[in-house]
Amino acid sequence: MCIFCKIVNGEIPSNKVLENEEFMAFHDISPKAPIHVLIIPKQHIENFQSTPSEIMAKMTPFIQEVAKTLSLDKTGYRLIVNNGEDGGQEVMHLHFHILGGTKLLWPYLAPEKEAKKYV
Ligand code: AMP
Repeated sequence: MCIFCKIVNGEIPSNKVLENEEFMAFHDISPKAPIHVLIIPKQHIENFQSTPSEIMAKMTPFIQEVAKTLSLDKTGYRLIVNNGEDGGQEVMHLHFHILGGTKLLWPYLAPEKEAKKYV
């Protein structure tokens, strides 16, 4: 069973922000911003690429509700999904990172030469 499934069933503790029957939001254990929360479906879905559109249709309002709960809806936030190996996905259970609480940087994410290849 994956680490996020263990969080869902309570085997691993988490600092919960919001939960309903299908989704859960909890603080990232290694925050990269003043506010860094992970939003997951309770159902095990490996990654964004394999996520059915019906799940996203329900997940979108949940993510918006999490933003409100964290008071990020007015100040702004960044949503990130790392998908697969090149995307840097470490936990193979779909999760959105919601980051905020400061004006975030937009750091260079690939070597300069590579990033300009397709411009
Ligand atoms: P990713 O690299 O997109 O797969 O992100 C995985 C995230 O899960 C990282 O930001 C980790 O810090 C976070 N993480 C790993 N284990 C836990 C945990 N037990 N509780 C909360 N966050 C976790």
